Amino acid sequence: MQGLMQDWPLTVDKIIDHAKTWHGAREVVSRSVEGPIVRTTYAQIHARAQRVSNALLALGVQPGDRVATLAWNTARHIEAWYGIMGIGAVCHTLNPRLFAEQLCYIVNHAEDKLIFTDLTFLPVLLENRAKMPTVQHIVVLTDPDRLPKDFPGALCFETLVEQASPDCAWGGFDENTAAGLCYTSGTTGNPKGVLYSHRSNFLHTLVTMGSDVLGIKAADTVLPVVPMFHANAWGLAFSAPAVGAKLVMPGAKLDGASVHELLETEGVTYSAAVPTVWQMLLTHLRATNGKITTLKRVVIGGSAVPEAIVRGFRDEYGVDVTHAWGMTETSPLGTQATPNHLIAAMDPEQQLQFKLKQGRAPLGIQLKLVDDDDKELPHDGTTFGRLKVSGPFVVGEYFKGEGGKILDAEGYFDTGDVATVDEHGFMQITDRAKDVIKSGGEWISSIEIENIAAGHPKAELAAVIGVAHPKWDERPLLLVKLNAGESSTPKEFLDFLEGKIAKWWTPDDVVFVDDIPLGATGKIDKKLIRDRMKDYVLPAAAAAAAPAVALAATPEPKIYAPQPEPPNLEAASLEWTPNAAQRIEPKPEPVVAAFPAASEAKAGEAPADADVPFPAEPATHAGPGLPPAESVIAQPMFAPAAPAKRVSPGRARFADLYLKLAAIVAITPAAMVAVAFLGVQLNLMDRAAFVRLALDLAPQVALISVATGVVGLGVALLAGFNRFWLRGLMVLAISAATLGAYVVARNAGAQAPPAAAAQPASR
Ligand code: ADP
Repeated sequence: MQGLMQDWPLTVDKIIDHAKTWHGAREVVSRSVEGPIVRTTYAQIHARAQRVSNALLALGVQPGDRVATLAWNTARHIEAWYGIMGIGAVCHTLNPRLFAEQLCYIVNHAEDKLIFTDLTFLPVLLENRAKMPTVQHIVVLTDPDRLPKDFPGALCFETLVEQASPDCAWGGFDENTAAGLCYTSGTTGNPKGVLYSHRSNFLHTLVTMGSDVLGIKAADTVLPVVPMFHANAWGLAFSAPAVGAKLVMPGAKLDGASVHELLETEGVTYSAAVPTVWQMLLTHLRATNGKITTLKRVVIGGSAVPEAIVRGFRDEYGVDVTHAWGMTETSPLGTQATPNHLIAAMDPEQQLQFKLKQGRAPLGIQLKLVDDDDKELPHDGTTFGRLKVSGPFVVGEYFKGEGGKILDAEGYFDTGDVATVDEHGFMQITDRAKDVIKSGGEWISSIEIENIAAGHPKAELAAVIGVAHPKWDERPLLLVKLNAGESSTPKEFLDFLEGKIAKWWTPDDVVFVDDIPLGATGKIDKKLIRDRMKDYVLPAAAAAAAPAVALAATPEPKIYAPQPEPPNLEAASLEWTPNAAQRIEPKPEPVVAAFPAASEAKAGEAPADADVPFPAEPATHAGPGLPPAESVIAQPMFAPAAPAKRVSPGRARFADLYLKLAAIVAITPAAMVAVAFLGVQLNLMDRAAFVRLALDLAPQVALISVATGVVGLGVALLAGFNRFWLRGLMVLAISAATLGAYVVARNAGAQAPPAAAAQPASR
């Protein structure tokens, strides 16, 4: 028997319809790619998205056609997004961080008919235009004045919107119609397309609106730093209009200063981003003594959230961090670490251990852990196995059947992650299956070791990979990128790990490197690291082959490239730093208004006479705003103490010098007394000289040294208290002790010179 309720297809056009009707005046604020802040509303977005639909239909776009976007988070992107989906076409979000060849592969595989692009990416498209034969039109998300005149076939978004007729009949198709397409980054094999349906997006929206999931409300102001091109901005471009929250779209500027500015000027209460972005914000806030006045909650996912970030936001800024896990294949939200009643009753420190886990599944997501034989494993918090997932917004198969059958007999998708699940249902990722280190038949979590190693105050970033071992198959190798100006030894890092991990997890070697590469979605690129280290041989393996050589090579750290200059986070924030030569090369030149003819054009090369359209806000054309690899500061998940804050090397050098001088000043009074005493004993000094040096001058220097010591504490505070506090305190303690000794001695009547001092005078 069928139910008798209304047949109301779950299509996403209804989300923006709802926002227009019930939250029409609610603002959507964008930092435009051109620079200025642009304000619009859900009602205006709805009206313009309908015009986009009509423009697409006029350009020959049919239901089911793939229409791509290569764009930052802005209101125009949302208009294109709903305009495409509303007529049953498929919105294909392209990730500009991919290599140019991957971008072409994806466009061709999807057979994109049209691309909406920000000005930022025009040079890349121009250079690769000939390699994208299915693309009939390129629509530039800008106004007519800024449309490059010489880009063959480029259309202007604002002109299209203005000329298109209003009112378009959206929907009317089956809720299982494809709505969106997003390719996984392809760390193994070619990128694969995840084809979302209207129904899966609608259900994902309903689930993520739950208060234990994203939990945003109409009263919230939401800043999705996570890009719409990376797993649908975690669904926020659906859930924010669905609840009527104000949206603040950050455009191309994702650096700490720009994000902070938007948080404060727009009164943001809720935000979402990967850990690297939050680390940049924390660094900026600490460096500028910045305040957070409205932000209450942030969601962090995409890679494991470091403990230092959770503590930093909680303790320094009163912001609650929720950890989430998901993947392109899960729409993307899979789990979120919101406490259940038992965890909520724990004290904050106990709760923290659960906050650092990836969390529990909401309704609509089913998880299971299995071993290599697909046998289910217990949820005891310690047994780890492959994580599988199923649900109505989880991928069933990849676009065009790539990769063949991807579900098991029970309909579960293998996430490729290795995880544990505890008695509260809290899942914790221990590794990607392909990164897990298999040592003597047991598994070692590379993530756990690297998170702890990255908590060493000298480490900027750490990565662990498995390396062939003659006896144990594989053993862990720790790679460390040190903070600028630091030096270290393998022993220092191995000592640091001792007691924090199982003994047999201890890496067999530590290698200091100048670069730990990040992939297109901001995660450590282990594939590239393994490739770079393919000729590396562990000391044990080398010893087996040639003992003498291995013994000689073992004690010294191996630095295979010079240390780079420390990154300038503020300046670097707009430039995307690629990790591999073949990725689109970033260029510092601003986007130009006039492009060279296709035949002579190269990405990033502006003609000599080109106008610079946005002198106030220059944008780079190859991926601005993406967190630069160098700016990532990995921090520990479980290290007991918060690692040192990053300070500029200049400030640290000054503190180092100052505290050395202060220490000299602190011991000077004692030295003066000692010299005077010896001088008298050896008959080199008369009583008057003794009194002048030991009893008059030395107490005055002791007073000065106390003052120098107090200033020293302040200097230590500014230059990284974690690193300098001990020296600052010691200087102060020596000065205070010396002064105290004088006071005591004076009270005890020690003004008289020692007997030996009196002798010369009595002679
Ligand atoms: P891509 O595969 O293109 O990098 P995804 O965003 O789909 O992009 O990546 C999903 C993977 O990212 C997950 O399978 C998992 O390995 C990792 N991941 C996502 N969130 C977390 C998290 N909170 N902690 C640890 N790993 C995470």
